[in-house]
Amino acid sequence: MSFGIDDLPVRDELRGKSPYGAPQLDVPVRLNTNENPYPLPEPLVERIAERVREAARNLNRYPDRDAVELRTRLAEYLTRTSGYTVDVTNVWAANGSNEVIQQLLQTFGGPGRTAIGFEPSYSMHGLIARGTGTGWISGPRHDDFTIDLAAAERAVAEHRPDVVFVTTPNNPTGNAVPRETVLALYEAAQAAKPSMVVVDEAYIEFSHGDSLLPLLEGRPNLVVSRTMSKAFGAAGLRLGYLAAHPAVVDAVQLVRLPYHLSAVTQATALAALEHTDTLLGYVEQLKAERDRLVAELRAIGYEVTESDANFVQFGRFDDAHKMWRKILDRGVLVRDNGVPGWLRVTAGTPAENDAFLDAVRELQSNVGDTPTPPEEQSA
Ligand SMILES: *Cc1c(COP(=O)(O)O)cnc(C)c1O
Repeated sequence: MSFGIDDLPVRDELRGKSPYGAPQLDVPVRLNTNENPYPLPEPLVERIAERVREAARNLNRYPDRDAVELRTRLAEYLTRTSGYTVDVTNVWAANGSNEVIQQLLQTFGGPGRTAIGFEPSYSMHGLIARGTGTGWISGPRHDDFTIDLAAAERAVAEHRPDVVFVTTPNNPTGNAVPRETVLALYEAAQAAKPSMVVVDEAYIEFSHGDSLLPLLEGRPNLVVSRTMSKAFGAAGLRLGYLAAHPAVVDAVQLVRLPYHLSAVTQATALAALEHTDTLLGYVEQLKAERDRLVAELRAIGYEVTESDANFVQFGRFDDAHKMWRKILDRGVLVRDNGVPGWLRVTAGTPAENDAFLDAVRELQSNVGDTPTPPEEQSA
């Protein structure tokens, strides 16, 4: 055995663990990480080059530590799309919403504190909790992947977590969480501790419903986190942000690294925000493709979870990983999130989705890989 992690004096909670690892395989159709399939439009690429060139002239200086211009533009975007007014004092930005979540856990979690999520949900919430020394509690869901509110309220009352994560629309299942459920969880969390409630809206632009941003009114312990990785088609940019009471924005600045957001990142994000309308046009196409995936997968005979995101969870399989492999053998990479019986496919271009549907249609007719017949499915 060669010298490895466990031979180093690493923290106990990191021993024997594996890093986040969605496979990055070189296959023709990649529908596994919920990226936007469309490259940025050429005029935006030009604008990014222009703004980055300007920024490059000042790279001898540290960037705007507080990213004021960018946060102002993000606040305008949120106000325009949600109808709820926020300004620069309500918005904070970092390198991906993963960093936003890390800063929130560094601020409100940490050693001796706990966070809860309702699983299956976004695995990074638990992983970032671990990385920040925050205890992780796995909360319950119903079999249909909706949050079991009564059980969730009991878990919050019992564990009194410092941070409560609610992902809506949820990843990897795709379903949105009703406003009333989030409100009830907020009340439960305040009664128990009080604690911070983080609503992760990474996929909200793809939802049939509205953002929960207006819930920020009068709720200083609520945070809504967002990202440019999905709807803006800019996963490579690494830009996430949050909206919350100004006190929350002040608080995360206690833990952020100075100059965490590079001048190049700020310039690129500002250019992308100038092209919001074009980028949101792609979102409409992707929503239509998402709805087509849901309808066609059901027509083929698969079970599909209702989706408000840019991906679809489908099943059920006796051995989801075996099915994942067979789809991969046909040149299509989907995601096995480890939810027993289910796989997740990202809505791609119409051609990519056709390739995926052809593959699963063909597999559906193969003995041993058929989905569970409807009469055996639970409600
Ligand atoms: C993709 C995703 C994110 C985005 O992370 P970034 O760091 O902004 O790329 C956040 N939350 C959820 C639930 C996601 O699926």
